[in-house]
Formats: sequence, C-alpha cells, structure tokens
Amino acid sequence: TENTNVLFTIFGATGDLAKRKLYPSLFRLYRKGDLSECFAVIGTARRPWSDDYYHEVVKEAIASLEPTTEEAEKFASHFYYQSHDVSDTSHYTVLKELTNKLNEKYQLGGNRLYYLAMSPRFFGTIVTQLKESGMLDTDGYHRVIIEKPFGSDFKSANELNNEINEVFAEKDIYRIDHYLGKEMVQNISAIRFANNLFESMWNQRYIDNVQITLAENLGVEDRGGYYDQSGALKDMVQNHILQVLSLLAMEPPVAFTEEAIRNEKIKALNAVRLYSEEEVYTNFVRGQYTKGKLGDKEFADYRHEPNVATDSTTETFVAGKFLIDNFRWSGVPFYVRTGKRLTEKGTRINIVFKQVPINVFRSSTTEVGTQNELPPNVLTIYIQPTEGFSMTLNGKEIGQGYSTKPVKLDYRNTAEMVENSPEAYERLIFDALNGDSTNFTHWDEVAQSWRVVDRIRAAWDKQTPDFPNYAAGTMGPQAAFDLLAKDGFEWIWQP
Ligand code: NAD
Repeated sequence: TENTNVLFTIFGATGDLAKRKLYPSLFRLYRKGDLSECFAVIGTARRPWSDDYYHEVVKEAIASLEPTTEEAEKFASHFYYQSHDVSDTSHYTVLKELTNKLNEKYQLGGNRLYYLAMSPRFFGTIVTQLKESGMLDTDGYHRVIIEKPFGSDFKSANELNNEINEVFAEKDIYRIDHYLGKEMVQNISAIRFANNLFESMWNQRYIDNVQITLAENLGVEDRGGYYDQSGALKDMVQNHILQVLSLLAMEPPVAFTEEAIRNEKIKALNAVRLYSEEEVYTNFVRGQYTKGKLGDKEFADYRHEPNVATDSTTETFVAGKFLIDNFRWSGVPFYVRTGKRLTEKGTRINIVFKQVPINVFRSSTTEVGTQNELPPNVLTIYIQPTEGFSMTLNGKEIGQGYSTKPVKLDYRNTAEMVENSPEAYERLIFDALNGDSTNFTHWDEVAQSWRVVDRIRAAWDKQTPDFPNYAAGTMGPQAAFDLLAKDGFEWIWQP
C-alpha cells in the first residue's frame, strides 16, 4: 500500500485550525496528486453534524482555492463526520467501527494518521483511549500529529510526553512547529551550507551578533483567553525562536538528513546558557502594550482586549540575549525579540559581521586607534511576509573624494513565487504522510527549550512588571533598545 493511502482522524474537526489550515492543505495535496484517491478523513468533535453538513463545511473551507464544483464534490466525498466526546470511552468503540469500515472501502492498508487539533489538555486522554480501544492494532503505520503548545513548562511537557510515549514511539510523534514548515527557515540551511562564503565566517571570529525578530502587528484578536495564560515567552520563544536559533547556531550536519540535522540542533540547544536569576534580569526584558496609534489607526490597550484580565501582567513582548557556550559562538550575543502590536509584521534574521581589523578609510585627522567605524556588513534573511536575503556591504561613493557608503544587495522571491510555494501546513502534512519528521520538533528539543525558558519565567514570576510599557504600533519598550545599546549594538531592523 502507498504511504498516502491513509485514514486521517482529526480531533477538533469543527475548530478554527481545521477550517483555516487543515482542509485547505489537504485539498492542495489532493489537487497536486500528492494524496491518492485512496484516502479518507474522519472529522470528530462534540457537535452533532451530519456528513452532508460536514461536506459543506469542507467545501467552504477550500472555496478560496477555487476548485471546480466537481473537484470540490469529489474531494469532500472523502470526509466523514463522527460526533465524539474525547473523554467518553464508548465513543471510541463507535469510532473504531467507522475506521475499519473506511479502511475496507478505500483500501488503506491500516495506515492511520491522527491529528490532534484541539486543546492540549486532551492529548493524553486521546492517545490513551486510542490504545485501549484497540484502534492501533492494525497493520500499516500509526502516526500522531500534535499541535502546539507542548506543555506549559518542562514538568508538564515531560508528563505529557510520558503519557504519549506509552502509546506512540518517538518516531511516530509529529510535534508541529509551523514556523519550521516555512520555506525560508529551510533556506537558512541552504544559505549556510551551500555557500562557502558564509559558512567559513559563521563563527565568533567574524560575527559580532545575531538578531532574530518575529514581529506581529496584530493584537491578540480572539485568542485572548489562551494568550493571557501563556504570554509571548511561552507562545513564541520556547518554540519558534529557539528553533530558528538552533538552525542558525548548529554545526554543519554530515548530510542533509532528518537525524543528522536533529542531532546538531539538539547539540546547539544544549549549549544555550541556562541563566541564573541575575542573568535573566540582565539579559531579558518584557513588555505589554498600551493603547497607541499607527497612521490613522488606533489600537486599544492589551488589558482591554476580549478575554484578557484588566489587571493582566502577561507579557505581549519579549526581548532577550541568549549566549551559546561553545567554541563556535562563545561571546556572540543572539538577540531575539517578538511581540504583538508592533509596527510591522515580519520575521527576519540579521547576521551582523565584525568590523574590518583596521579602517584604512578613517579621516586623516583621526589618530590610529581612535578610528571612526564603518557600518557593519549585515546578512539579512527574510522569512515573512517576503522571502529572500540581502547583504549590506561597503562600497565606494561616486565623487571626487574617497568615501565609502553601504550598498545593499537584495534578493527577494516575488509574491507570486511565495504564493505558489507550498503552505506550511501542507508541507508538514505531506512530510508526516511520508514519515519525514525533519520539520517537526523532537522531544529532546522540546525538553531543552523548556529548560531554557523555565529559568526566565521563574525569575520573572518573582517580580511584578511595570506594565503596560510600550505603545501599540511601536517596536516594544525602551528596555529592548537599551538591551543592545549597553553592549554597543543596535537593532538592525527598525521599521
Ligand atoms: P478551537 O477551539 O477552534 O477548536 C477546538 C476543537 O475541539 C473544536 O472542534 C471542538 O469542538 C473540539 N472539542 C473541544 N472539547 C471537546 C471534547 N471534549 N471532545 C471532542 N471535541 C472537543 O481550537 P483551534 O484554534 O482549532 O486549535 C486547536 C489546536 O491547535 C490547539 O492545540 C491550538 O493551540 C493549536 N493551534 C491553533 C492555531 C490556530 O491558528 N487556530 C495555531 C497554532 C496552534
């Protein structure tokens, strides 16, 4: 049986993620032929929907992809709805009957992919029930895709992981980090390992500092209830930012294989310094937005967003400095920042190179040793919304004198190319079908990321922050700028 002859069971089929991401991604795969005609989807959630109604929901979810009526009908016909309360044991018996029936009907060879698209507090229950009901006792593969967040600290993540490990082996657990699915994060590897120009300089001898920004211009929208419990540190730093950092910092893998890359990422994460309380206060700052204006748009303050406590001390912004204690990176700050209601949406990496050993272009009146500095060479990797990279070099300015000026070499993929590239979830589902977990997070990565982040959280929890401290529409609190200034640096990206 083909890998893509598979039965998907989606837990949380009526939810936001299923509609916005999963159905469209499945349809794109289907349209390209990456999903054979032999597949079926069981959607489950508590609501009592009929198959017919479910088909309408699926068709609506893919409408923006403009399928023909026939295509949409054919695709939707593979979907089955089963009303199911995940904590009710008897419901799994009913589910099992349906899975067996569909397995026969579509010739699926027992291949199963379980997608847990619902609140993480149910993950443990679901996998345990899958096992107890005997649903996993078929030929073929059984893989589980798990949405973030994976735990809320090391302890809870570890408990959850133990629970899941009782049922699924690590190789069959696909922990989603949709940032990893992004084309350009994968391109970090291409830039680094396909260009001797960069890789030979990719270390503390030539790099001054590294800056990672994941900026959002939106507020919490309708996720206030979840976000207010989580905050930017757990929502963004523990997963996305540390993943990007590990890709930038890792040693070259021996080959571009899942296992080799993962091993290097884990080594890099293990070298990230675990901060003492004092180090947290020196190296990490947090923020929360108050009301603000950007152009003619006015934004409310975080504490008046829906489902947010009016005295909330949750951070909507984090900036910090990570240190990586190994030969390659000793002494090179990795500055990171992320937040909501910032000036502009965008994910960017700036690699800031060191000064030339001596500036021969210093003015003749400047004594050697007190030379004026040149602007740094900067390699920028754009991840979203545009994808590409740019390089700032110093060139000669036209004219009689001899002065230098920064020149930017810019390569961006066109919006059209970006649009035609597979969407993150599409790529991730495709990988899971093919048993490739390179772009998912391994337990060792999750565990170490939590250890790093738990130190920061614990120190912060001992102090009451002076919130709010940045206006919506700006790039965060003053403290985020001071953080670099005291090291003699500044944020390269200042929209
Ligand atoms: P949602 O609240 O929109 O949907 C939750 C689903 O779970 C619904 O289908 C609901 O009917 C079902 N459900 C709840 N209790 C149930 C029970 N006892 N038995 C059976 N079904 C039950 O949530 P969502 O936004 O779709 O998010 C799902 C998961 O994806 C979460 O882990 C979330 O953190 C993660 N996630 C979501 C997004 C997003 O963009 N929505 C992004 C990243 C991660």
